[in-house]
Amino acid sequence: MRSLSTHKSPLRRAAVRGVAALALLLPAGALAAAPAGGGGGGRGGEGVSAPDLAALIIGLQAGRDAAPSASVNPVAAPVDYGTAINGFGNERGRPHEGQDMFAPEGTPVLSPATTEVVETGSDSGRGNWAAVYDRTADRTYVYMHMSGPAGVAAGDRLEPGDRVGLLGCTGSCDGAHLHFEVRTGRGPYGTAIDPLPLLRRWQPAR
Ligand SMILES: [Zn+2]
Repeated sequence: MRSLSTHKSPLRRAAVRGVAALALLLPAGALAAAPAGGGGGGRGGEGVSAPDLAALIIGLQAGRDAAPSASVNPVAAPVDYGTAINGFGNERGRPHEGQDMFAPEGTPVLSPATTEVVETGSDSGRGNWAAVYDRTADRTYVYMHMSGPAGVAAGDRLEPGDRVGLLGCTGSCDGAHLHFEVRTGRGPYGTAIDPLPLLRRWQPAR
């Protein structure tokens, strides 16, 4: 944080430019209403100072996995994460390498970030499925049990919130849900990690 005290820090300059850009984007008063990024307390009524916001933005840039992110939740509806057996792990007595996300049949399922579609398919286990690669995070998101074939094809570039398909219950499925996996590296067969901490941090889709 010492770099915050020097005007030579390129990060700080970038952050201040970010604040200026934010100020242009937000309605009047929104900056004053934004939550403080820690520090600078005790000045009630002043809102958030530029350095506070700069620190917040630096935190967003530096701590992709430690701070709120701009990624969106892959299900475009309020989500029920079920119980322990719907989570990542061995609660079922066998590995479950994703998180089940319950929402109404037909709910759009979305790319959480800027991604590239790497593979789509359909089989008796996964149902209609798709895998999209997030180059920035170097991980792949896998969607299973979609109601119909993916609405995207390998090679497509997706922005956060772009539709991958529709939530359904094809393949090995009991009740409409998205089985969502997060795998390291590019492709649907990397090491699976628990999606839930990411999902809880990503913005609910609107
Ligand atoms: Zn599942």
